[in-house]
This record gives sequence, structure tokens and C-alpha cells, in this order.
Amino acid sequence: MTTLDEREGPRDECGVFGIYAPGHDVSRLAYFALYALQHRGQESAGIAAADVDGHIMTLRELGLVNQVFDEQKLRALGGDIAVGHVRYSTTGSNGWDNAQPVHRSDRRELALGHNGNLINAVELHTELRERGVSFRSTSDSEIIAALLASHEADRIEDAATAILPRLQGAFSTVLMTKDSLVAFRDPAGLRPMVLGRLDGKYCVASESCALDIIGAERLRDVAPGELIWVDADGLHSRQVVSGAREAFCVFEYIYFARPDSRMNGDVLQAARGRMGEILAREAPAPNADLVIPVPDSGAPAARGYARASGLPQDDGLIKNRYVGRTFIEPGQELRKHGLRMKFNPLPEIVGGKSLVVVDDSIVRGNTTRHLVAMLREAGAREVHLRISAPPIKHPCHYGIDMSTREEMIAHGRTVEEIAAELGCDSLAYLSLGGVYEAVRGDRDRHCDACFSGRYPLEGTDDAQGKDAFELPLVGARVL
Ligand code: SF4
Repeated sequence: MTTLDEREGPRDECGVFGIYAPGHDVSRLAYFALYALQHRGQESAGIAAADVDGHIMTLRELGLVNQVFDEQKLRALGGDIAVGHVRYSTTGSNGWDNAQPVHRSDRRELALGHNGNLINAVELHTELRERGVSFRSTSDSEIIAALLASHEADRIEDAATAILPRLQGAFSTVLMTKDSLVAFRDPAGLRPMVLGRLDGKYCVASESCALDIIGAERLRDVAPGELIWVDADGLHSRQVVSGAREAFCVFEYIYFARPDSRMNGDVLQAARGRMGEILAREAPAPNADLVIPVPDSGAPAARGYARASGLPQDDGLIKNRYVGRTFIEPGQELRKHGLRMKFNPLPEIVGGKSLVVVDDSIVRGNTTRHLVAMLREAGAREVHLRISAPPIKHPCHYGIDMSTREEMIAHGRTVEEIAAELGCDSLAYLSLGGVYEAVRGDRDRHCDACFSGRYPLEGTDDAQGKDAFELPLVGARVL
């Protein structure tokens, strides 16, 4: 077996879900919600629920949601409350130990799922260890869980109120105790989190697509710095930190979130279409014959580009949707076909044409280089790349795995130099202004550091490598 990640875009690391719904099959609802959030993490999946004795049972495994759970396992996860998590590792290794929900029972029992990255993880971890708290994982999520589980406050909402201001970085967090569901979001609101309602009961999720799949109504976003909790008395909210600079991740609109999720009052499919339209205005290709997307993620922007430019659009690359991230080694004979496992060009569509090829982002550029070569082999006369995001030049410290700066093709290169590296006839990126125009958002309330190098949180800057905030593996394995 080999691990082959051909979708070489940046990778989100987690999706979270939580529900308080007496009388409903909560673990089944969590399963389907996680199924809708699978794009946010494919390394592990887990669900926790409280059993009849009030103990929290947690099932988590490496693998996709439908590989981890079956009918029997879901039946074992009964109760009125459930939390779920899908993970792509950023902080900590990708082993089972780091799968979530994290389950702890220091002073109180809880199960917790987290999307984001703590930038003061090392400091908090040291402090907790000095207090005699032990850890089973190397994930920063267990630090949040340990702070909450060991806190002396009687009520979980008071423990969360006390610890939230101590956490720095990105943390959309959901947790359950045996009798309540709790969710909170970092003061900058870096990662998304939405509140929903199902038959008068409440749930939270990373994205609204997880609410759609279980038939829940989207009420509103959990506000940056807000703590909500749901118990037998209903839904409660407390604004724990207010007035911080908001910094919602602009890349959620461009790529991470599903196109059917709603953010900033708009469905992302529409926002991505506008990115394509603006890209056509900013970077026309007047002599081109045809617009094709890099499937699937480039499709909405390609449609927008075609709409605005008046050029015809077609599918010149067919994607095999069933290629997972891990599969059998292709072997010597098949290796020369490389990327064809995932993308197959159609000579009948692209042959003899001058193409506009639209994708949503380029990180390292390896896949894009191969795609350009494949299209030429299939007979394309010209390949004009149009990217519906600005060049990625800086690492993300807020929960997205972007590779190191040195691995980024746009780092230290001009657009012309990148075009030469990729072997295309022309290359153009959407401007940052174009992104904000498309999402109808205010730059001062978003993060765009991976494009601009303008980091919204103190203590994070370009010079810090991806590992600057990670826990040392050995230090974290004190049992
Ligand atoms: S650096 Fe980029 S990916 Fe990371 S939070 Fe900011 S906009 Fe999002």
C-alpha cells in the first residue's frame, strides 16, 4: 500500500458536529453529519455518546466515516447527546491516539472534538504537565479537553468560560458531558461553526451542509468568542470574549468548505461562481476556444469564467471519484500513467483547442504541472491556467496544512516564472480584492495570511515554520 495524495491542495484538518436531542437516534444523526463533513478530514472519524448509565462511550478509528462505523457500532452509541469528529492531522501525528473525540475523565468526564490549531499549545501543555496532568496523544485538542476536564468549576459552562480566554489560535470546539452539549469558537472566529435546530433540539456543526443532511434548520453562526451550551433547560449563550479582531479564514470560501455550505450569508457555489466571473474580467483569454475546470473543485469558478467571458465550457478532464487517498501501489507498468488514475483527459474535447483551464488553488504545483502535460499530450494547442485564488506564499498557523514555504511554487517566484515551471502558455491568479468582491466580505474581518503574509494573531508570522506550534512527540507521550 502507498499513500498517494494527488489532491495536493491545502488540507483542512477537521470537521466537528454535536447534538443534544433526547428522543432522537443521536449517534446516527452524528454519523450522517460527519458523512457530509468528510471533505474536512479523511484520516480518522469518531463519535461519542452517553450510555444509559451516564458514561460517555467514544468510538474512534483511522479511516473514513463509512469505514469506521457500521450498524452495530452505531447501535452501541445510544443516549441523548453525541459529538462527532473527522480529522486530517496538522498538530500531532496521524495515529489512532490523535483520533477524536478526545475522551477524558479527570475531575469530570467529557468527550471533545476540535477544529483548528492552538498557537500556545506548547506553553499550556507544559503548564498542565507540571500540574501532574498526563496525556495520551500529541494533539492540541487534548490540551483543551484536559483544561476543561480538570477545571475546578462545578459547571462545565463556567470551566469553559474560564479557559476560553487562555487559548490562543483557532479553535472551533464541541464537547459533551453526560448531561450537556457545549460549543465555543475562538475570538477571531478563524474556523467556521454553525448552530442548527432539529425539531426544537439543537446541534452545531463545522458547516451548514451537515445540518442539511439531517434535516436541521440553520439558525446562525456561533459568534467568534461565544460559548453556547445546551442542557435540559434548553439553549444558553454567553459572549466570553468580545471586541477581538475577527479573522474568518477566506480560504474556506475558496476551497475548504463544501459548495453547498452557506457562509457569510451566501451559498459557496454562488460565491465561487463569482470568483470565476471576476477572474475572467481581471485575466481574460480572448483567443481561447474553450473553458475547462480541474474537477471537481475548479468547476464552479470555471462556469463563472465561461459565463463572464462568453466562451464555451466543457469537461476536458474526467475525474475518477473513487480514488481514495490510499490505494494499491500502481507498480512499474502503470506508474508511467501517473495521474491518469485520478484524471483522464478527453482528446475529443481538448484536441486542437486553446484551453482556459480553471482551478481553485495551486500549492506545490506538481499536480498542475502533470495536468498541463497531460492536456498537451491529449492534443491541446494552448493551455492558459486561471486560478480563482491569489498565489499561496505563506504558511498557515491556524489549522490548515499548506506545506512549508519552500515547497510552495509561488514562494520567491514571479507569475511568469511559475508559468514556466508549470509549462503553461499563460497563468493568472484572482486578486485578493477580487476574492473579497466575490465573497462580499470585509478584509478587516478575515484572515488571508497565506496569500498576503498579513497574520491576524499576535505571535504568528511568516518566519515561523509549520511545526513552530506543535507539541514535541516524546514530551507529549507521558502516560
Ligand atoms: S492563513 Fe490562509 S488557510 Fe490559514 S486561516 Fe488564514 S486564510 Fe485560512
